[in-house]
Amino acid sequence: QKPTVVITGASSGLGLNAANSMAQSGDWHVVMACRDFAKAEKEARKLGMPKGSYTVMHLDLASLESVRQFVQNFKNSGRRLDALVCNAAVYLPTAKEPTFTADGFELSVGTNHLGHFLLANLLLEDLQKAPTNNPAGAPRCIIVGSITGNTNTVAGNVPPKADLGDLRGLRTGLDGRNASMIDGGEFDGAKAYKDSKVCNMLTMRQMHQRFHDSTGVTFASLYPGCIAETGLFRNHIGLFRTLFPPFQKYITKGYVSEVEAGRRLAQVVSDPSLNKSGVYWSWDNEKSSLWFDQVDGALENNVSKEVSDDAKGARLWDASLKLVGLE
Ligand code: NDP
Repeated sequence: QKPTVVITGASSGLGLNAANSMAQSGDWHVVMACRDFAKAEKEARKLGMPKGSYTVMHLDLASLESVRQFVQNFKNSGRRLDALVCNAAVYLPTAKEPTFTADGFELSVGTNHLGHFLLANLLLEDLQKAPTNNPAGAPRCIIVGSITGNTNTVAGNVPPKADLGDLRGLRTGLDGRNASMIDGGEFDGAKAYKDSKVCNMLTMRQMHQRFHDSTGVTFASLYPGCIAETGLFRNHIGLFRTLFPPFQKYITKGYVSEVEAGRRLAQVVSDPSLNKSGVYWSWDNEKSSLWFDQVDGALENNVSKEVSDDAKGARLWDASLKLVGLE
């Protein structure tokens, strides 16, 4: 059996392009874990992903029951698990009111963080059991981060800034009765997304500290660059969607194409030289061409003050365990 990578949200943008890159390599079988089966299948065919190189499996991260069902279906499939990529996300910057997952959590944090938190915990034992003939060297769990959740950068300081505060909203269930934001503040869709990405990066660091030595699994996060044309911005206003790609291309120079971003993610999953655990990978766009897709060397980036706060990471871990029913 070929090494298997599970990629969530592989029906669009970064996840789809990483899935394509890994499937085309011939070294990997890709499980596309998606909420829209038909869309994933259509997109895979459109990109010419070889038949037999991928399997689409249903996963809706906005439902803990669906996450558990996915894990069961995956285990029943008898596939080995060499890499898990927690990539899917929703971004609701123009939402005036919070919306909620099937379990009643605010949708961005519920999907981007809590759904993935349960998934990664439930699949850890399968990663640990992966055979050793893996081209990456060791099993990996990659949780996609973001510069927007990284307040030690210019982009990460664009308001509203990520800030989990004392986690009082999360601890009271994030269900809109007491709070729909992790810090207990007023709902703000853009901030909820950024908070969720901070949770993703804190989770990666917690998993590294808790499980790397005992399981041998490599945990990492990355910021692949600003992929200004993905579906992530589908809920933004039209003018933003028109101006954002050229702004990122010519002003911030943070722009990266979907294809290149997909290759970067695939590199973090499979490149034997990127086997260090606990790392947040980034690329220096200034040194790469905006016009030709090039894979530059990945750099170990620094995380923001909040993401490096391990005590907060541990409190997030405990609160998340309770909410997803693992405690
Ligand atoms: P896209 O919107 O193109 O892709 C998001 C994917 O997540 C889609 O496949 C979507 O499914 C899936 N998804 C959303 N909700 C759920 C759910 N409930 N269950 C299962 N899947 C779901 O965005 P990107 O490719 O840009 O984003 C991918 C990752 O990259 C995210 O983690 C994002 O935070 C990160 N990122 C993006 C950047 C950018 O500039 N775009 C920059 C930095 C990080 P469907 O196709 O059905 O909608």
